[in-house]
Amino acid sequence: MSNSTVAAVSTPNAPGGIGIIRISGEDALAVAGRVFFPVSGETLADSRGYRAYFGDVIYNGSKIDEAVCLVYRAPHSYTGEDTAEINCHGGLFVTKQVLRAVLDAGAQPAGPGEFTKRAFLNGKMDLASSESVMNLIGASGKQAAAAALNTLEGNLSRKIRACCDRIIGVCASLAAWVDYPDEDIEEIGNGEMLSVFESVRAELKEIINRFDCGRALTEGVDTVIVGKPNVGKSAIMNLLTGFQRSIVTDIAGTTRDVVEEKITVGDIILRIADTAGIRETENTVENIGVSLARKRLDRAELVLAVFDGSSPVSDEDREIIKECGDRKKIALLNKSDLPRRADIDEIEKSFDRTVVLSAMTGEGIDELEKAISEVLMTDEFDPSAACLAGERQRACCVKAIGHLDGCIDALNSGMTPDAVNVCADCAVDALLELTGEKATAAVVDEVFSRFCVGK
Ligand code: GDP
Repeated sequence: MSNSTVAAVSTPNAPGGIGIIRISGEDALAVAGRVFFPVSGETLADSRGYRAYFGDVIYNGSKIDEAVCLVYRAPHSYTGEDTAEINCHGGLFVTKQVLRAVLDAGAQPAGPGEFTKRAFLNGKMDLASSESVMNLIGASGKQAAAAALNTLEGNLSRKIRACCDRIIGVCASLAAWVDYPDEDIEEIGNGEMLSVFESVRAELKEIINRFDCGRALTEGVDTVIVGKPNVGKSAIMNLLTGFQRSIVTDIAGTTRDVVEEKITVGDIILRIADTAGIRETENTVENIGVSLARKRLDRAELVLAVFDGSSPVSDEDREIIKECGDRKKIALLNKSDLPRRADIDEIEKSFDRTVVLSAMTGEGIDELEKAISEVLMTDEFDPSAACLAGERQRACCVKAIGHLDGCIDALNSGMTPDAVNVCADCAVDALLELTGEKATAAVVDEVFSRFCVGK
């Protein structure tokens, strides 16, 4: 990136008490000094930095606002560059006018995430931490915000770096031994190498698990409600969402589309879909619903399978049990207000948890909440532990685990140290891509393109 001077409004695009126009780059103070004039008569470009100046914003010869300008000097600023932040009155018109004045004075408009990208490129933070900036901005709950702040502070990067160092340690011993066979270098034993690879792999798996359960608290978990017609899927969905949303009738096949809701169960967000019963049907409209339900089931992370506890388990129920696959799944034995005729043992053995409930009376809904949090392991979520900040980082961890599996296989099958080394190198590369130390320009661009302008 060129070190041109860029500017953007860093506060939300809405009226507010204060609007901040951030200017960063080599000429930031000169540019700011062309539109902002301290009442003290000082020149911004001469500022030592870390000062707040009160003054006038002048555009085309007229005063357009009174403002406070904060000055930071490179490298001790968010971006690592000279930075000026004009804090003006937060009206939409005023902030836009001040930005226009700043652009006319020589700054370029900043792209999405450009300030944070500069911070990354200037070594102020690594890629993993940069990504958590957006999570912190977008956090809607206490735990999500704590986890994002934690990553921003570099806890994840430190942990990943430590994993890398352990793999690199093995590689270095291997390389020394391969390159200098005559030297008296102690050969690193297979057992020792295996234990390093296995423990790093276990650590990465734990980081991924934590991310997956953290996601339940931030973005929500793709969830489907399945079950044959009339078992009470819509009634349960309505109970969970707290209002009448799906159409509840006793005519089999009433629910024809996939109704989706984002609901919060305790701390967990479920992106929940109530589906038309997955079953073969002659009815075309209903068939569309059925195929939508199947697609939704394919990508679901959590399945809530509903059974009518007041009637015996049928072949259709058994089909549904099969359809659930090996996802996280909870069986809901509904209609507990009626005499039980279903064999709970038959259902229980196919699910992670089985909850007996009644959508009609609300009995069992607390147990359902508890079961969901146990199955998704959110009850064990620790926002103070190192946490991945997004899918890109998760994919890097998965890639590293794949290469570590390669190392372990190579060792177990007696391959040469070179083969182990190649896999170990790839694992390190995947981890360095996560922290950004080895990320390509395209990856970096992609990361920051998801940011908002002004951050
Ligand atoms: P769906 O086809 O699976 O979505 O089932 P619905 O939610 O439309 O419910 C089918 C019928 O079962 C309706 O008449 C509901 O009132 C009834 N029903 C649902 N849940 C319960 C329950 O917990 N107890 C009883 N007694 N009836 C229920």
